[in-house]
Amino acid sequence: MPSLPLELVSEIIYEALEFSTSDTPGTRSKPRWELVSSLSVTCKSYRILVLKAWFCRLYTEDHDDTAQLTERILQVDKNWVKQIHCVQRVFRGPRSRSWNLQGYERLELVRLDWLDVSIPHQGSSFERSEYIPFINAPDKVATFDFRGLRWPYPNAYLFIQQCLPSIKHLVLYQQEVWCGLCFTPSEVEFAEPIPTRLLYEGGFGLPIHYATALKSLEQLEQVTIHIPAAGTGLTSVNETCNENMWIGECDACIKFLYTDCSFVDAYVARKRGGIFRLADGTEKQGLHPPRLKSVEWVFVPLTAHEYDLSSAWEEVSEGGDLDSNISLEGDISDVTLVS
Ligand SMILES: [Zn+2]
Repeated sequence: MPSLPLELVSEIIYEALEFSTSDTPGTRSKPRWELVSSLSVTCKSYRILVLKAWFCRLYTEDHDDTAQLTERILQVDKNWVKQIHCVQRVFRGPRSRSWNLQGYERLELVRLDWLDVSIPHQGSSFERSEYIPFINAPDKVATFDFRGLRWPYPNAYLFIQQCLPSIKHLVLYQQEVWCGLCFTPSEVEFAEPIPTRLLYEGGFGLPIHYATALKSLEQLEQVTIHIPAAGTGLTSVNETCNENMWIGECDACIKFLYTDCSFVDAYVARKRGGIFRLADGTEKQGLHPPRLKSVEWVFVPLTAHEYDLSSAWEEVSEGGDLDSNISLEGDISDVTLVS
């Protein structure tokens, strides 16, 4: 029988696991199961404590993991899981399978690392996504963390309002951003010194096409975009000096178009009003999530960028037979089964 109070043992287990956040897409955000596996087989009461702590986060690269968790490890309760970190290494088109989140009633955060070079939605529809990564998500999920998307087209985000409609906070990590002037994704360039952050309030701050793609997220209050920025541009922006209200415009467009003061005035006025102009000159009223309060841009100087997505993409795209490169690594297969 255990001689220490179980509460103390539980604290020790959580301390030993030292959960941390891995910034690099496609890498585990948890320590190895081996760290606690020995303790898990000492007695039943310790095993439950270990499993409970271990499965407060679930890391998965296999779409079956979420549905089969309690079938494959009978002692586990889906209600222990508060965070799920999913990794989509290869995307096989709209008919790809989804992670089933049914029964995860205490789930608070979902993270998706998207490592395929394609995007979840290739079609022209701007209303519904062709692919839904998650089904049956509980309303309690408040935060969605989405990383790794190579081409951040606005319609690549349509799936969020379909499968996680109740989120309050959207966190995006991306390499490029959508420019509302040339309608293409571009890397961010500023003149030195690169700003560390820009904060907008009152529903403003997203590229208009992103805001429109997310417009049905009725509970969304906060968006945080982490993005690398190079100091090779002409645009000078910082938190106190941002008169043209930068929201993703590429440096090439700014260099080319901002020399015309009348254009800049009209464009900034349209931005403030949420209006975008199509190539044929037609103007359309954009929409944004109704409860959006703040949009924060967090810039990581490119030279100090701690993670390098290109290596993850190359690993996938240069593999030839992709199946042989898929690492079916996840928490369920790690856990030692005991009778
Ligand atoms: Zn542009």
